[in-house]
Amino acid sequence: MHQKSLTELRAALDSKEISAVELAQSYLQRIEAAKDLNAFIGVDRELTLEQARAADAAIAQGSAGALTGLPIAHKDVFVTRGWTSTAGSHMLENYASPFDATVVDRLKRAGMVCLGKTNMDEFAMGSSNENSYFGAVKNPWDTKAVPGGSSGGSAAAVAARLAPAATGTDTGGSIRQPASFTGITGIKPTYGRVSRYGMIAFASSLDQGGPMAQSAADCALLLNAMGGFDERDSTSLQRENEDYTRYLGKTWNGGDAAKPLAGLRIGMPKEYFGAGLADDVRASIQAALKAYETLGATLVEVSLPKTELSIPVYYIIAPAEASSNLSRFDGVRYGHRAAQYKDLLDMYKKSRAEGFGPEVKRRILVGTYVLSHGYYDAYYLQAQKIRRIIARDFQEAFKQCDVIMGPVAPSVAWNLGEKTDDPVQMYLADIYTLSVSLAGLPGMSVPCGFGAGANANRPVGLQIIGNYFNEARMLQVADAFQRATDWHRKAPSASASGV
Ligand code: GLN
Repeated sequence: MHQKSLTELRAALDSKEISAVELAQSYLQRIEAAKDLNAFIGVDRELTLEQARAADAAIAQGSAGALTGLPIAHKDVFVTRGWTSTAGSHMLENYASPFDATVVDRLKRAGMVCLGKTNMDEFAMGSSNENSYFGAVKNPWDTKAVPGGSSGGSAAAVAARLAPAATGTDTGGSIRQPASFTGITGIKPTYGRVSRYGMIAFASSLDQGGPMAQSAADCALLLNAMGGFDERDSTSLQRENEDYTRYLGKTWNGGDAAKPLAGLRIGMPKEYFGAGLADDVRASIQAALKAYETLGATLVEVSLPKTELSIPVYYIIAPAEASSNLSRFDGVRYGHRAAQYKDLLDMYKKSRAEGFGPEVKRRILVGTYVLSHGYYDAYYLQAQKIRRIIARDFQEAFKQCDVIMGPVAPSVAWNLGEKTDDPVQMYLADIYTLSVSLAGLPGMSVPCGFGAGANANRPVGLQIIGNYFNEARMLQVADAFQRATDWHRKAPSASASGV
């Protein structure tokens, strides 16, 4: 049962092969058995079963929708009533939100059953899920490896089949990269598609929620329920709701079923295939591009000349916004407060010193520095200008192609502890995902192979980048690949994942 996709589980619920309560129980059992992966921060059996019973009632009444009774895990950055909402931080270790994030609320209204809250890098800062106050998450394919970050708990949960789907957030790659490292499918929508209301803020001009699941088809279903205008988010896009499944299974240009993607032009940015790309990742990506040619697509070389600058630009803008967003954690209004202090200032200092981990402190320091008088023009303003050029470069590229493809990350998942002493090495691993976030474009990761040699058990993800609002077409392109291949069907062995 746990290998089934959302669509398959829907059929099992509708045919009464299984009830929502039984389904929830079986996943809760798997979560318990796979505790060593450390994928979950918050589990509350009773709350989950209560939602499952409500779903069963809706199914019995004949009022079930496409997602009623299907389980989902939420990244602990989304505030949820009932479960704690920690953002992976000591600062919010005991934080109980009085309301649900819009994403959580919409999925709940759609009838989904929350299995609990997944582990993450503290305040979503990281690429390996080793920055969590609650400890690192292990990659279910190889427990010596990181699962990627910052949505590493969500990715590990879906990969180990502890949940059929999960939510994630992507500020600079945190849906795509962990999806890539764990062999699952994840999509970061166009900035503004998914409400940020109730998503604990990291860098507000970049943060974007999205679904993580086994397949593009499942992600499309989830996005239907998660997305859409929200008046409580000031940067939410005012657009008509759309059905993201509408192109699935169709041909690109209404042509021949044998060549479903005939007419599709795939741009390969030459900067994404340069020296820094590991050979095994390159081989898997090239094989995937070949498969796309077989489906009828044509490949064109494009250029994104400022790719390298995306790292300094992102690591100026994201910390700048973070330093401002995180100023609300002062020990007064939310979260941790030091037990002993001399006066108000000392209380602020001690609460923040104790509540935040080292990476978060590093970002606050960098952020306040680049925003300070005298450095603002030299760093922050320059970064904003280059951000604009990065976005413009994508528009140039999209004149020649319909989607852009390349690797998600320069290597497969690295070993736990391998990059923890060297934050810059960790930042460099974000090279292929950051510019998409800076431009606000939609991007996704689709499993397309495995590494070589000692990495033969570590998945590789293909990145698909679309133009603004082109999610439905991107999902079609990803789904066509998944109809022709079975990389997305592969799951880690029970001995590796603990279940
Ligand atoms: N790895 C990037 C960072 O550390 C991106 C994280 C994210 O997307 N939340 O900031």
